Amino acid sequence: MTWENYFMPSTTGEVLALLEQHQGQARLVAGGTDLMVQHRWDPLEVKSLIDIGRVPALKEIREDHGRIYVGAAVTHSQLVDSALIQGKGRVLAEAARSVGSPQVRNVGTVGGNVVNAQPAADTAIALVALDALVHVSSPGKEREIPVAEIFLGPGKSSIDPAKDLVTAFSFSAPDSRERTYFVRFARREALALPLVNLGLWLQLEEDGHALKDIRIAVGPMAVVPYRARKTEASLKGAVLNEEILKKAGHSISEEVTPRDSFRGSAAFKKRLIGVALKRGIERALDLKGVDRHER
Ligand SMILES: Cc1cc2nc3c(=O)[nH]c(=O)nc-3n(C[C@H](O)[C@H](O)[C@H](O)COP(=O)(O)OP(=O)(O)OC[C@H]3O[C@@H](n4cnc5c(N)ncnc54)[C@H](O)[C@@H]3O)c2cc1C
Repeated sequence: MTWENYFMPSTTGEVLALLEQHQGQARLVAGGTDLMVQHRWDPLEVKSLIDIGRVPALKEIREDHGRIYVGAAVTHSQLVDSALIQGKGRVLAEAARSVGSPQVRNVGTVGGNVVNAQPAADTAIALVALDALVHVSSPGKEREIPVAEIFLGPGKSSIDPAKDLVTAFSFSAPDSRERTYFVRFARREALALPLVNLGLWLQLEEDGHALKDIRIAVGPMAVVPYRARKTEASLKGAVLNEEILKKAGHSISEEVTPRDSFRGSAAFKKRLIGVALKRGIERALDLKGVDRHER
């Protein structure tokens, strides 16, 4: 089916009114970098598209009462360039930097990346590590959902883009004992989907040595962006040293369930994710000098 209408609203109120008016027959589009590719092999079954790329409120990045808010139509390039995200959401800035190519980053959005629900979507992995909330508006209804809870399977989320508008993502601004980091291994530096990616958030005890808390998000290690909770539990309270990091690497390799794909075997991905975790923790805590060749 070819669509008959292409709407370009300028407020979220207009977007919601259009969704209500079209009763599931209109689909949201942001950058179109996923949707238009999908449309080629699986034509969209809707009559209308609603382009949310010109709604200023969906393109804001701001801090409010100790939380960082990122509008759903913020592009990857905006995230990379934002001083607020570089300073207070490093894992998200680095994840956005690794997406596709400059052309893809200039139009692709964080909202599209999450709603498209691929198990290794780069900014989705970072937002899971940040324990972000998804802010969703539907006609007559507002809700906030932990991002990790919206993923149902490869390409499937609980957000229905013919009924629900993701307006923003939010996460706590970090304090001085929190660190984040993003690690990604791919066959090329650009325009290659990840073999493995890992988003890390951690918090140190007041003594600055022991690990008080940690969140580890990884992809594509399950059918959805995956929180490695067993490995997180094994690290809580630990004073980090080479031995502990090695054990954590083994633990996460055992915990995840990647599959064989043309990008790499499951066994190889299991091994790589162990390396990624060790590297992520070392770099987050500046335990070793950053390799000049790492992006
Ligand atoms: C060449 C190429 C390279 C790529 N490389 C990478 C990569 O390295 N890493 C990576 O993670 N991804 C990559 N992608 C995938 C893609 O660019 C990203 O997922 C991008 O962030 C999608 O955002 P978009 O705005 O283009 O989404 P769109 O295509 O506009 O939308 C995607 C889906 O989300 C829905 N949607 C969009 N916004 C909202 C909203 N606010 N509320 C509700 N539903 C919404 C749409 O209806 C659609 O179902 C690549 C794509 C291409 C074409």
